[in-house]
Amino acid sequence: MMAKHFTAKEIEGLNPMLVERLDWAREQSGVPFTITSGYRPGDPKAHGKGLAVDIRCSQSMPRFRMIQALQNVGFRRIGVYNLHVHADVAEEPDFPQDVMWWGESD
Ligand SMILES: [Zn+2]
Repeated sequence: MMAKHFTAKEIEGLNPMLVERLDWAREQSGVPFTITSGYRPGDPKAHGKGLAVDIRCSQSMPRFRMIQALQNVGFRRIGVYNLHVHADVAEEPDFPQDVMWWGESD
C-alpha cells in the first residue's frame, strides 16, 4: 500500500480506506500529520482492527485545521486529546457515528 504523506511504518496494518482518507485530510489541512499510534494488535477497540490512528497535535491552530479536514473527508469519529487527535473509521453497531470526545494522552 502506498501513501503520499505517511511512512510504511506509520501505516503498517492499517485499513487502506483509512490511509486514503488520511492522505486526503493531510493534503487539505496544510498541517503535518505524524501518526504516533496506528494498528495495535490485541487492542479490543478500533486500533486493534487497523481502523484508527492517533495523530500528534498539541496546538490550537493545527488542531482546528486537522479536525476540519478530517471531517471534510468523512471521518465521523474523532477524539481530541491534549497531545493528539484520534480518528477512526470503525462502524455501527459497535462504534457510534458522529461523535467527538476528549481525553488525556497516555
Ligand atoms: Zn486512538
